[in-house]
Amino acid sequence: MAENAPTEILSRKPENIAVYTNPQHELYLHRARFLPLAMRKGHIGDIVVTRANSLGHESAGIVIAVGAGVTRFKAGDRVALECGIPCMKATCYSCRTGQYNACPEVVFFSTPPHHGTLARYHVHPEDWLHKIPDEMTYEEGSLIEPLSVALAGVERSGVRLGSPVVICGAGPIGLATLLAAQAAGANPIVITDINETRLQFAKKLVPRVRPVTIPTEKTPVEIAEVIKEALGEETQLVLECTGVESSVVAGIYSCRFGGMVFVIGCGKDFQTLPFMHMAGKEIDLRFQYRYHDTYPRAIGLVASGVIDVKPLVTHRFTLE
Ligand SMILES: [Zn+2]
Repeated sequence: MAENAPTEILSRKPENIAVYTNPQHELYLHRARFLPLAMRKGHIGDIVVTRANSLGHESAGIVIAVGAGVTRFKAGDRVALECGIPCMKATCYSCRTGQYNACPEVVFFSTPPHHGTLARYHVHPEDWLHKIPDEMTYEEGSLIEPLSVALAGVERSGVRLGSPVVICGAGPIGLATLLAAQAAGANPIVITDINETRLQFAKKLVPRVRPVTIPTEKTPVEIAEVIKEALGEETQLVLECTGVESSVVAGIYSCRFGGMVFVIGCGKDFQTLPFMHMAGKEIDLRFQYRYHDTYPRAIGLVASGVIDVKPLVTHRFTLE
């Protein structure tokens, strides 16, 4: 811990470097700009990058200084950062009813106009910091964020012990969802992707998962046949982590009567769905927007070894 001592960090790395993007979606390093929370403005729903904006809302670190009035943390504490800061006013329907992920006044770091946390130093309100155990790495602490997305998905979709699940997409959220679904006891589990390498990674992560490479030349109905064959049955639940229309539709055709396609991914604004097929099979289509009250549970699951997120870290880059 000595090399992590807060004062030592500040003197060794005085400059606050952050990773930025711009409307051209270029990535570059720049001195971070702090925007005090008092300056917050703008609205969720307009998350187009219109100016330079720093990235990142998957972060953990060590507290190096605390402001006046901070009581729960001190320099040296190790924390994971929950990066959506809701208003928490009683006059706010979402906050009052415990759905703070929907707060219209939320400051979500990395969502314009708010800068992100992929920086050396970051100022964060203490209420939205979560202590992580000494034995948990900062990498694991950062991965609490995508795991939170997956936990919210598993909870809202009602994954059950022994219920068949199809996960569409083996990207970061698909893989985090795979870890959460397998911990929740989903069985059997199929995971799909167009990328063979991603599927091999998924299979290494959870050996009992059944990978399906999407034959892109086929129709969604034909793709659904391939998925159902791998699963051995029609599925109760599709956890859709791509947002791609053809994948959503293939997911719908993979469902049994009364099944559900639960969308965790982001996709284009308007999509065409097999409306009457869904009606005839009572297939639900549900969505998720971020998460609430997942951090403490996610930290507990990782700390106790129920979910191992370490294999998700494949590359390391410095901020220089
Ligand atoms: Zn609110």
